[in-house]
Amino acid sequence: MYKRIKGTEDIFGDDIKYWYYIENVVKETVRLYGYSEIRTPIFEATELFIRSVGEETDIVQKEMYTFEDKGQRSITLRPEGTAPTIRAFIENSMMATGLPKRLFYIGPMFRYERPQKGRQRQFHQFGVELIGSPSPLADAEGIIVADRVLKNLGLLNYTIKINSIGCDKCRANYKNALKEYYSDKLDYVCDDCKRRYNTNVLRLLDCKVDVEYVKDAPKITDYLCDDCKHHYEETKRLLDNLKIKYVEDPLLVRGLDYYNGVVFEIHHGDLGAQSAVGGGGRYDKLIKELGGSQTPSLGFAMGIERLIIALKNEKIPVEDIKNNEIFVAHLGEQARIEALKIAEDLRDNGISVVFSTMERGLSAQLKHAARLKCKLCVIVGENELERNIVILRNMETGEQIEIERDYVVGTAKEWIEE
Ligand code: AMP
Repeated sequence: MYKRIKGTEDIFGDDIKYWYYIENVVKETVRLYGYSEIRTPIFEATELFIRSVGEETDIVQKEMYTFEDKGQRSITLRPEGTAPTIRAFIENSMMATGLPKRLFYIGPMFRYERPQKGRQRQFHQFGVELIGSPSPLADAEGIIVADRVLKNLGLLNYTIKINSIGCDKCRANYKNALKEYYSDKLDYVCDDCKRRYNTNVLRLLDCKVDVEYVKDAPKITDYLCDDCKHHYEETKRLLDNLKIKYVEDPLLVRGLDYYNGVVFEIHHGDLGAQSAVGGGGRYDKLIKELGGSQTPSLGFAMGIERLIIALKNEKIPVEDIKNNEIFVAHLGEQARIEALKIAEDLRDNGISVVFSTMERGLSAQLKHAARLKCKLCVIVGENELERNIVILRNMETGEQIEIERDYVVGTAKEWIEE
């Protein structure tokens, strides 16, 4: 027997309704803001992610699924959706149709992480990218869309954390301050932090081990230049005006290199160690870095598996998919021909019908219908058919009635809609 690869999941059965629900809510919500879908390949040239996500990030250092294809090209299964979306934006000259451009995606992502609850090696994200606006109005829109998605899903127990990590100028001063702060602590921090001190000192704030040091570290908000400060203040003012709730977290820096300015993360109270359901921020330099022209932009992504855990933990009722509404059973040569016609008539009316295709006796057919949780059974028998009659059986109550062949569809429809 073959087993699935560690860190991946088979998604089926009762869980599927959560996926439909989230996909529908996401698509309907982003439609309200004018975002259109983009579907990019699930693998890209490795260099794309190194250039965008950053050489020194955990993703590039440890987590990418990279392989050589038969043409000796280095290929990577996408670990995130922004870089591919921006690659596609540039490659397809989407600037030509005017800016800003609003795009969203939904699909699988791949990261070689240690699997645990809420953390897989193949997981799914949806994300939005608002490409081309330098205004705080765009930052506010990103956060507003994220908030509305969560609200429309019915979630309550989440917190939006925001911060500004400034521009290169403010970050240079801040990095010096961080270096100074950590200079006399280097002997005591973990090996990752020792490395990050030299390669990318901001990453020290992401450390989950040396949290005590992180707590007292200098805060980037004290180092913002006037422009960045103003941009951040204006973004908050727009959110306040709409009464969007957020908390400021001056230690939030995000784990990818392409961010600058306003960044944000969404955490859910019931998720335990993996509490982040989403995150994003501004990435003004990414498009130029990837070969396009200077185009200020921002975006965010949310993890669908974690949203599902959050929905279940908050006990949010999600409607069952209307499947297996009616079972059509039959007995006899002539009956099964007519039964198949009835099944198709019902389907013409948008009803989900399971037709008995196993040559079984009536009680076995009814048992199968009960197992599939069909609401109603249409029973077509040879004797009844001679009288132009069919039996309708309510599977919940066991009640049965005889009905004229021509009225089967109408009556069955009424029953299941009750
Ligand atoms: P990131 O781009 O790393 O901030 O990821 C955005 C969101 O994707 C996170 O907040 C999670 O909800 C989700 N996510 C990231 N990595 C994983 C993973 N390995 N397994 C499941 N969900 C993930």
